[in-house]
Amino acid sequence: MKKVAFYTLGCRLNFSETSAMRRDFEGRSFLVTDFENEADIYVINTCSVTQDANKDCRKVVRRALRKNPNAFVAITGCYAQLEPQEIAAIDGVSLVLGAKDKFNIFDLVESFEKSDEPIIYHSDVNEAADFHHAFSSGDRTRAFLKVQDGCDYKCSFCTIPLARGASRSPKISEVLTNAHKAAQEGFKEIVVTGVNAGDFGKDSDESFLKLLMALDEIQAIERIRVSSIEPNLLNEDIIHFVANSRAVQPHFHIPLQSGSDRMLKLMRRRYKSDLYAGRVALIRQLMPHACIGVDVITGHPGETHELFQESFNFIDSLDISYLHVFTYSERPNTHALTLKPVIPKNERKKRTAKLRRLSAKKRFLFNERFIGDNRSVLFEEEEKDGFIQGWTDNYIRVILPYSQKFGNTIQDVHLSSQLNNGNVVGSIILQNIDSKIHNLLAVHG
Ligand code: SF4
Repeated sequence: MKKVAFYTLGCRLNFSETSAMRRDFEGRSFLVTDFENEADIYVINTCSVTQDANKDCRKVVRRALRKNPNAFVAITGCYAQLEPQEIAAIDGVSLVLGAKDKFNIFDLVESFEKSDEPIIYHSDVNEAADFHHAFSSGDRTRAFLKVQDGCDYKCSFCTIPLARGASRSPKISEVLTNAHKAAQEGFKEIVVTGVNAGDFGKDSDESFLKLLMALDEIQAIERIRVSSIEPNLLNEDIIHFVANSRAVQPHFHIPLQSGSDRMLKLMRRRYKSDLYAGRVALIRQLMPHACIGVDVITGHPGETHELFQESFNFIDSLDISYLHVFTYSERPNTHALTLKPVIPKNERKKRTAKLRRLSAKKRFLFNERFIGDNRSVLFEEEEKDGFIQGWTDNYIRVILPYSQKFGNTIQDVHLSSQLNNGNVVGSIILQNIDSKIHNLLAVHG
């Protein structure tokens, strides 16, 4: 029996796709082993977002070959689609699979024997038109359920449409089949994931809202979280639905990228700052307790000091909970490369640091609002430094002294205090025990 090991770089979608590949191998009687172990085959699923994609990929290939110099090393994912030759030139790579062939490895490879010359399967990204279902099964608490792939937008800084192709999504009924499978595997929470998930169903009479409504009906799924949704696609109907839904959590992650309208135009984003502010205001009005996360890019070409300050002031004025701040980095074949002025790298970093400080402040103030309250928490299974950690419905990280029995369970937790690192210390509310005592007293007088 051949042994296979997997490594994932990048986003949640990549993690869910690696899981799908792993299931494929398991279904054909390969033995899946940890990446740190010796294996016959190593599959590395790459990312193109960071500037260090090549370095990262090389490092992982070397790690694999240290375990077994004769291993068959296959590279796939976004970076494999964008730079197949660069990857094939890495010592020890046997196979490069572009976007179209990512899931066709068994049709293309007869024997997984290391070869001297790497084989490359690469086509124009427009040929990557199929949708492959996937959900991750790394830790047992949350499953990342892929509902959409590719993107039709042309944001100035982004290579994802070049790496993953046009936007596409399956039928709701197909997603539900996978959601049921995830629930049967014991996942308590499903994270609805896509490149541009809000685009779901755009070429049919289905929609992202209809998808959420259908998922909400599956009683076996206790929690549903939306990983990220573009502000122009997060319409009022979706916000109203989330406010009243059974399982969709009060947590929105909405990419903004810049709070300056001039920058949004340069970035080819499809909204202005007032639309964004309106979405945040409506969420706050309907769900004062909701967590709102915001993606921002610093130092994009054209972002003068004044425009950065305008963006900073806008973000500061929003009642949001945290930021994910990305420092702009040049990516080949993107529109941003043609824009001026180019912002020096040290200035980009300063802006990132400034926004990260703002994020820490927003996170602290958001968490503080809930100290003294009780909220439901889904606990993860691992022990970290004697603690177990979990997430509230509204995405506050809570820690407790480790106890195995709470792993992958949802508990009502009293939030007692916040630590400097933003973790909130909680204590379990022993509701069941209290009600049992109450019942006993009632029976026995
Ligand atoms: S919406 Fe823009 S940033 Fe997001 S994947 Fe599409 S092109 Fe990239």
